[in-house]
Amino acid sequence: MQKRDYYEILGVSRDADADTIKKEYRKLAMKYHPDKNPDNKEAEEMFKEASEAYEILSDPEKRQRYDQFGHDADHFGAGGFSWDNFTRHADINDIFGDGFSSIFEGLFGGGFGGGRAGGRRSNRGEDLQIELSLSLKEISTGVEKKIKISTKEACDKCNGSGSEDGEVETCTQCRGSGQVYTVRQSLFGQMQVMGECPSCRGEGKIIKNRCSKCHGEGRMGKVKEINVKIPAGVEDGQYIRMRGQGNAGPRGGAKGDILVLIREKIDDVFVRDGNNILIEYPISVSQAVLGGEVMVPTLSGKVKMKIPAGTQNRRVFRLKDMGIKSLNSYSKGDQLVEIVVVIPTKISKDETNLYKQIAEYDTKRELKPDRRFFSRLRNYFS
Ligand SMILES: [Zn+2]
Ligand SMILES: [Zn+2]
Repeated sequence: MQKRDYYEILGVSRDADADTIKKEYRKLAMKYHPDKNPDNKEAEEMFKEASEAYEILSDPEKRQRYDQFGHDADHFGAGGFSWDNFTRHADINDIFGDGFSSIFEGLFGGGFGGGRAGGRRSNRGEDLQIELSLSLKEISTGVEKKIKISTKEACDKCNGSGSEDGEVETCTQCRGSGQVYTVRQSLFGQMQVMGECPSCRGEGKIIKNRCSKCHGEGRMGKVKEINVKIPAGVEDGQYIRMRGQGNAGPRGGAKGDILVLIREKIDDVFVRDGNNILIEYPISVSQAVLGGEVMVPTLSGKVKMKIPAGTQNRRVFRLKDMGIKSLNSYSKGDQLVEIVVVIPTKISKDETNLYKQIAEYDTKRELKPDRRFFSRLRNYFS
C-alpha cells in the first residue's frame, strides 16, 4: 500500500504552523486512543500512523527534510516507524495525563523506548547512503561512476546463516513466530499482551554453534566497488535508490538498498534553471554596434553564435537544445545567452579621438527616457 502523506494524515495544509499541527494530532489521538477503542486493531493503526506523522511534522528539521524528500528520506530506517522512534512523550502526557504511557506499556510490550509492535523482528540489512557530487556537464548527459563503499556482505564461511555447522533450530518457546504472550499488570488491570520472544529475541530461530568467522552475525564488513548509473537531468537533492545493494541482513536477512544523494557542483560559468542553462556573454561596444560572430561556451564545447548589428545590452539569444536533457522525457533544455556590452574604462589617445568623432554623430540622435527600458529591466528580474 502506498504510504500516506503526513500532512494528509493529520489533515493540515503544508504551511500549517506548529500549533495547528499539535491541535490536529490531539484530535486524532483522542479519537483513536486505545483506551477508547479496546481491541480495535484499526484504531490502533490509525493512532500509530498519526503519531508517526506528528513525530516528523512537529520537528522543524525533520519536517523540512520531509518537505524536500518525502518518504524517500527514510526517516526511521529500513524497518519504518515503530514506537521506539516516538520522542514526543511530553506532548502525549500533555494530552492525556500521566496514565497514558501505562496504556502503551500494556499494548506494545515494554512501552516507549523498548517495545516493538507486531510481527517478527525484520532481519533486513541497513540502507546505506552516499553523496555524489556531479558537474553540470555530467548532469547534462548522464554519467556512470565507480564508487567504493563499506558494506556488510554475507559471511562466506557459513553462507550467511551464522551457524558453524549450518544447523539452525526453530525456537521452541515461540515456535518460530518470534512472539509470545505475556500477562502484564497495567493501570487497567491484567492484560494479556504480545511481545518479543526472550529466547530468540524475536528472530524465531536459534543457532547452537555460532560461526567462528562472523560470530553468528552471518555477515562481515567488506569494501566493495559499485557502479552508479546517473541518468541525465537529475537535480540537487534527488536520491537514486539502488535496490538490494546495501548491507546484507544478519543471518540470511534481505539486503538493504543504497541511496545515492545527488549534489550539483556550482559551475564558474553556467547557471542552471530547470533544464535550461543560463550564461552571460560579454561583447565589446563595436561588436554590439557592427555585429559579428562569437564563440560561446556550452556544456558540449564552444559553438559559433551570430551577433546582429545593433545588438542591445542584456539582449538574450537562445541556443536551441543546448541545455540539459530532461530526466523524464526525450526533450532537451536550451542555452540562453544574455549579452553584456562591456564599456571600456581605459582607452588610448587614439581611441579617445575616435570616440570624440562618434560623439559628434551621437549628438544628432535624441535619446529620450522611455517606459520600454523600464519594462525590459523588469522582465530581466522576473
Ligand atoms: Zn559466518
Ligand atoms: Zn522464540
